[in-house]
Amino acid sequence: MVSETRLTDPPAKAVLDALEGAFRALAEAEVARIRHTQISLTRAAKRTASEPEGVVQWAAIGAGAQVLLAWWTAISGQRHVRIVARAIPRDQDYLQNESKLGTRPAVWHVFPERVYRRRVGKTNDLIAVCACGAVGTEKALGWAGPCCGPCADFADDHGEQARAPALFGANEPCYAVSASACGSRVLTQSARALTVRDATGVPLFALPYERERLALPGPSPALSPCGRYLAHSDPAAGRFRVFDLSTQPAAESRQFAEVSAFAFHPTGALYLVTGGGLLVCEQPLARPVGTKFALAVSGGPIAFSTNGARVALRTEGYVHLFEMDGTPLARVPLPASQVFGQRPPPGAVPHVALSADGSQVAVALAYAVAVHHVVTGERRFYDGKLDGSATGAAFDASGKWLFVSRYDGSLVAHPTDTFAPERTVVLRWSLGPLRATAAFGDSLVTACDEGAKVWPVAQLLRGV
Ligand SMILES: [Zn+2]
Repeated sequence: MVSETRLTDPPAKAVLDALEGAFRALAEAEVARIRHTQISLTRAAKRTASEPEGVVQWAAIGAGAQVLLAWWTAISGQRHVRIVARAIPRDQDYLQNESKLGTRPAVWHVFPERVYRRRVGKTNDLIAVCACGAVGTEKALGWAGPCCGPCADFADDHGEQARAPALFGANEPCYAVSASACGSRVLTQSARALTVRDATGVPLFALPYERERLALPGPSPALSPCGRYLAHSDPAAGRFRVFDLSTQPAAESRQFAEVSAFAFHPTGALYLVTGGGLLVCEQPLARPVGTKFALAVSGGPIAFSTNGARVALRTEGYVHLFEMDGTPLARVPLPASQVFGQRPPPGAVPHVALSADGSQVAVALAYAVAVHHVVTGERRFYDGKLDGSATGAAFDASGKWLFVSRYDGSLVAHPTDTFAPERTVVLRWSLGPLRATAAFGDSLVTACDEGAKVWPVAQLLRGV
């Protein structure tokens, strides 16, 4: 983002000044030039004073840059205006797509962080979730901009309260995301760096890459349950590294070669999949203490149930399920996509999730998702024609919902009792893709072009 201006109840002249400032900022940043006329700016600025809400875009021809003016009037009568100037890389063309922009009402363009779309069956709602936990349509909440009406009244009387962010914003796309199980820390991976932030968004640790990496092969980085350790596979450097974030600067505790997958067990132990098997390491210093089960081939990903009793590990075309004492349970095949033939697109990575009690396993790959009983291997659900390629899977703590994030920007919540399509919930936020998903306390967090987005799923599914 090159510039962002927020105004409350501004006269048209103030909006015009801010618009001119946005175009100046773009010119100074030397991103693409946007052709515009002074009369178009004046006309738009006047509209903000005479119409309750609206969205106006000035865009460069093709990819390049955009100035976006959006305004919206709250129930209290207060008018909120937001003016954004940004450079648009070619793969974020969707930001300029007029028909896509039109699917978002003005309130979303003004306060996007906490406004979501929710579709259940044929019902399509716009849902706002305040940081206080209040959830509902903007009218029901008396939405007052960044928060609900009661919170705005409280802020008027007592001053603003510190609120956990709903978006850990970044100036570059995020490709992978992880969070500590306790919800205290979030890890994001971009083409240039790994960044760990606390739950209020304050950066705690950054690991810049020596070279920009647009393709990010290999397993995603992970945070330990308490957020103290960061495990990261760096295929470019040919090594797997573990950092202890409790010291300043963070201590690099160990390096390994040939790690094809890794995950933190809920107890905090780090498990590595190497050529020979599943290696258990204890903290601190990621000290290997034994091999859990020998494996004929290496694989990944690896996933644990939240109760710590079971583990799922993919090798070749199957997901193998075990008790933690090594007793084998079922083996389930990767689900086949029925889009573009039966084969997954090249580079598609399987996503594996176990329910908290370890009774169900979900496997998502390309345009397919399947859920199986862990003990019997019996398939409970299968869909091979997803609208977008799957980029992540996670169960909620109760096991009642399975979430599948997709590259088309949807976060789909499947009810695990019946998997009935009419009760399946499709949540959306931005216009761009969701590239990865992780559990974040009671919420989920996804890797997006804007940064790491928090989805308060318990609130978003309330009443469904
Ligand atoms: Zn509130």
